[in-house]
Amino acid sequence: MFLLEQNEKNHDTAEKKYNIDYENYPLRIIILGPQGSGKGTQAELIKEHYTLLHIDMGSELRKIENQNNELAKKIKEIIDKGDLVPDEITLKIFEKKLQELKSSEKKYKGFISDGFPRNEKQLNLLNKTLGDIFNIALYIKISDEEAIKRISKRRICYCNDKEIILSIDDVEKIKDCEKNNCKIIHREDDKEEAIKHRLELYHKETELLLRDFYDKNILIEINGEQPIEKVFEEIREKIKEKLEAKRNE
Ligand SMILES: [Zn+2]
Repeated sequence: MFLLEQNEKNHDTAEKKYNIDYENYPLRIIILGPQGSGKGTQAELIKEHYTLLHIDMGSELRKIENQNNELAKKIKEIIDKGDLVPDEITLKIFEKKLQELKSSEKKYKGFISDGFPRNEKQLNLLNKTLGDIFNIALYIKISDEEAIKRISKRRICYCNDKEIILSIDDVEKIKDCEKNNCKIIHREDDKEEAIKHRLELYHKETELLLRDFYDKNILIEINGEQPIEKVFEEIREKIKEKLEAKRNE
């Protein structure tokens, strides 16, 4: 009971702070999944299908990096040193993006967050600042074996100075690149040992998050080892089920 009350109390922080009425935004999604899970592709599909604001922390950080101001300089320094951007900064970016909901004149039905919060520390910070803002946590699940298989097939090509991600299964594209004398690279990061290490870190960071979302009864697990359309179908079905269940609670 205490927990519930606390959640209720937390609940209006974002609503009050940004005057965001959750009734108007029935979908407030966080999407999670290891590298190679196809999470980015699914986030795009979900955003389009449900008309959601897409908060993609990776691309937000890259956008800022390319700007010319104090914050950009600071973030660039941090990233260049190989350090992680402080949680307070990522939270600020998230909050700033969230305000687009209000200014968009009810264009959106909610939002989907990718890349934030990425660990329990960030989630706690978010909860403290904005309360429980997610009502669905989508976890695109694939085995480590599958993730390793998918990522280790990845190649980067610099066609006309533009970075393009290929798979060694894209035989035709690779042939084209070879014809054009493109430089095709197998990044160190995409080799098996490096992937294993990253997956280990990922699981360590994410498991606590998943448990938290499970406890709040908002976790949805999706089988990521299916074709893209099938994964998306499962997502739509399970979101519908979840929303119906919530309504009947
Ligand atoms: Zn190429």
